[in-house]
Amino acid sequence: MTTTDAAVSAPEIASDETRRRFELEEMGFKEVPKKWRKFYRYWQGPTDVLAPNEVICPVCKVVIRATRELRPGDKVYCMPCMSRMVVVVGEDGRLEADVVF
Ligand SMILES: [Zn+2]
Repeated sequence: MTTTDAAVSAPEIASDETRRRFELEEMGFKEVPKKWRKFYRYWQGPTDVLAPNEVICPVCKVVIRATRELRPGDKVYCMPCMSRMVVVVGEDGRLEADVVF
């Protein structure tokens, strides 16, 4: 975990300039302290389209948002349910998160 990004920690992420950056804004998520709210949003259901910097927590179905584009192998942390997970490519080719126990 870096000081700039609560949701994602990956050793290579800081130096990887090929990744798109994303400006995060609060989207009404109230279940974590204010400082961290912009890193999460509520999933709107099956019609919700995830951005390249977003992945759904499989435990609590909250959308975790990063300041950079996510890639397989990235480690993400879901503060609302305190799960650690790794980003993987799912069956349909989209990014998913697998919980790390
Ligand atoms: Zn969660």
